[in-house]
Amino acid sequence: MIVGFTTRNGGVSQGNYFSFNLGLHNGDSQESVIKNREILAQKFNKRPEDFVFMNQTHSTNIVFLDKNDNYKNCGFYNESSALQDTDAVFTNDMTKILCVMTADCAPLLFYEPLSKIIGAAHCGWRGVVNGIISKTFEKCLEKILDFDLKNVRVFIGPNICGNCYEVGKDFVELLNKQYSNYISFIFEKNGKFYFDLEKAIINDLKFLGVQRKKIFNCKLCTFENTSQFYSYRFNNQTGRMINFIFCN
Ligand SMILES: [Zn+2]
Repeated sequence: MIVGFTTRNGGVSQGNYFSFNLGLHNGDSQESVIKNREILAQKFNKRPEDFVFMNQTHSTNIVFLDKNDNYKNCGFYNESSALQDTDAVFTNDMTKILCVMTADCAPLLFYEPLSKIIGAAHCGWRGVVNGIISKTFEKCLEKILDFDLKNVRVFIGPNICGNCYEVGKDFVELLNKQYSNYISFIFEKNGKFYFDLEKAIINDLKFLGVQRKKIFNCKLCTFENTSQFYSYRFNNQTGRMINFIFCN
């Protein structure tokens, strides 16, 4: 099983998108992005139709791709063929590469070795407070008879860390009012408020029964490493990395 992430280096995109932008939706030239995706596919020795892309909308919509459904060309060449309005996907098809696009949000990739399920979820604050993580694993339990949370291995890719993720008073108020379970992940530093997205994610995973020792957090901050990573907070006209999981 391979999990990982791209950096912003190694591609053909120019300007703010320099150079390995893999997102088709953020204003970069489509040819450059497709070229970059082809570079990635070649490196992995995979076909374009093996890739699964989501049109991520900070929703809690989750798709199960069953290998018997025989779907093809999930978003490699255009947005219209990607999984629409979807922020998490899991599959029993070990030929697929599941991809989450990020530039500050947290990507979560997982593997359940006994039932042989791989999954990927896009975890920004909105998805997390609305329950994307619990809803994803609930759907796994519902669809896959022998899926067991105790076996799940999780990888959390690069994202904006708690020390960098400054939020406004309105955000703190929103959590207080509507999502009070998450208020403990706000902290104050020099009169400013910050949200610790990673901590919230790990807490959700532990609450569901995922074992802490099976959660691997890469602890790389996108906002602090802008020569390596795209960061939407650093510059909102920017590219996207791909975080991926596949069976080799
Ligand atoms: Zn940081």
